[in-house]
Amino acid sequence: MAEHRPAARPLTSLGFARLSHYFDSETLSRAHVVEVDIVPKPPLTVLGLHQFSEFEQMNAAGTTYGDLYFVDRTRATDESVHFHELVHTVQWHILGTDRFMLAYALGHLASGGYANNPLEEVARALEEMFVREPRLFRVEPIVSQHLERVVPQLMALAGQ
Ligand SMILES: [Zn+2]
Repeated sequence: MAEHRPAARPLTSLGFARLSHYFDSETLSRAHVVEVDIVPKPPLTVLGLHQFSEFEQMNAAGTTYGDLYFVDRTRATDESVHFHELVHTVQWHILGTDRFMLAYALGHLASGGYANNPLEEVARALEEMFVREPRLFRVEPIVSQHLERVVPQLMALAGQ
């Protein structure tokens, strides 16, 4: 994704006020954002498996590659979109690229699709709490505990 770096802006330069109440400053300062007209497909579509073909029809608001994420230009001022993609940067940071990709792919296959992938479910659940609940919470420990629970189950499916 190095070719996108020139267009990437530090998340911290975008002026979102609420995110720092939920994410560590390290998470926020690592994150870089590229606004695009068409959001690229999730990385696992490069595997070319037909099980991932639903992504071809998806019109996602964003997608994450490591600490870099892409957001649909028309959604770029929506703080909840950034919140959701930041959850994926935390998952990616904890697992590393190889284990993230494997866990994400296994989660997709094991649950029968994008919506029920546990790595998406937790991102969506936390995003909904961010939108609906006044209560503050810290994302990193929740994501870490969630991964400790689900990743061994997913890896067991793959015999890893
Ligand atoms: Zn997601």
